[in-house]
Amino acid sequence: MSRAGEKERIVAIGAGQAAAQLAISLRQGKFADEILVIGAEPYLPYQRPPLSKKFLTERPQPEKLFLRPENFWRGLNVDMALGVAAARVDPRNKTVTLADGRELGYGKLVLATGTRASALPVPGTALENVFSLRAIADVHRLRPALDAAERVVIVGGGYIGLEVAAVLRGEGRAVTVLEAEDRVLKRVTAPAVSDFFDTLHREHGVDIRLGARLAAITGDARATGVALADGKELAADVILLATGARANDELAQAAGLACQDGILVDEFTSSSVPDIYAIGDCARLPSRRYGRLLRLESVQNAVDQAKAAAAVLLGEPAAYDPVPWFWSDQYDVKLQIAGLSAGHTSYDIVGDPAEARFSTEYRSDGRLIAVDAINDARAHMLARRHIAQETDPTDAFALEGAA
Ligand code: FAD
Repeated sequence: MSRAGEKERIVAIGAGQAAAQLAISLRQGKFADEILVIGAEPYLPYQRPPLSKKFLTERPQPEKLFLRPENFWRGLNVDMALGVAAARVDPRNKTVTLADGRELGYGKLVLATGTRASALPVPGTALENVFSLRAIADVHRLRPALDAAERVVIVGGGYIGLEVAAVLRGEGRAVTVLEAEDRVLKRVTAPAVSDFFDTLHREHGVDIRLGARLAAITGDARATGVALADGKELAADVILLATGARANDELAQAAGLACQDGILVDEFTSSSVPDIYAIGDCARLPSRRYGRLLRLESVQNAVDQAKAAAAVLLGEPAAYDPVPWFWSDQYDVKLQIAGLSAGHTSYDIVGDPAEARFSTEYRSDGRLIAVDAINDARAHMLARRHIAQETDPTDAFALEGAA
């Protein structure tokens, strides 16, 4: 049973982007009681996007990634228990047990446990020199291996795989990207956008293999290469697995929360169990706008869903139904995505891909649902407004003040 004084305490599990925003928004909303953030990693909340971009090659100190310095959290009176995982949640007694045995009571509990790299069901993934990239600790392992590497194989032609390919080409390393589908970024973009990035990477010297299914990672203790399903073999000094992520929802499942690769929440961030909420990458939320459940992996969602949870906890609930947005940096190209293009029935290219500045507008039965903007921040910002207001850029008078 939670003890007196712990009844009002808000505990967040996971000290990432979402939990950080939650704590900030609670204090901005004048929440006066205790806030405790529990984080398995030994670092203050930090931003992950640079891990596959500049941070990888510039190798600054982890502090550079921190969202806020230590004295900020002290000033905000937010307690951080870092370097220790939450091992168990007991919703009946409203307690969290930490891996070091400590038991803490909560009034409200917010799960913000993020994701981890999804496991690839092929032999050899546990060999030395096989990596994934989700956290600072991964960079600390990966970086020395990269420094000694000439040939790098990246498994997965999604955002993270392609961003790392760009960084490594900048360092002059030989990079092969294996993509099982017939084009890169297939899950998230139209063929024209895939073609643009495919060409961009090939022009920078990346060896992109499409339709390339990984069968095994070869080597004894140490990985020496990959074997593909078609029988081809490639030598490699480092292999990076970038094939997506899955939600850290085991803690929630064990506590009896409804989960479906992600903790199921409603539009007010509430889980299926009273006084427990979930936000950020680990949550699966209902989207009225897109007519389905979504699990979003983006800074936008971590921040905005955290704000929505804080509003609920402050007694000012407002339904959360975001226009998701995301960005990716590859070489000198900035891709900005507004909305979700999955399920589109048509798309139009606006601008000229040959000039590396264009947008792809996706519609579902005539309704604008997403826009990929390449090197065009204005198109991206307008797209976010159009999608939110359910207007269309082809209607010149649709957006007030848009010109
Ligand atoms: P996280 O920031 O992942 O934090 C979750 C934290 O919970 C982790 O520190 C984890 O260790 C901790 N945790 C898990 N289980 C427990 C436990 N039991 N006890 C205690 N702590 C626990 N998004 C963009 O919008 N643009 C980008 O360009 C972009 N690039 C990215 C590049 C990389 C390499 C990665 C990995 C992600 C990128 N993202 C990007 C995604 C973005 O970083 C995430 O969406 C965001 O960090 C999600 O925030 P979160 O708080 O939900 O989870």
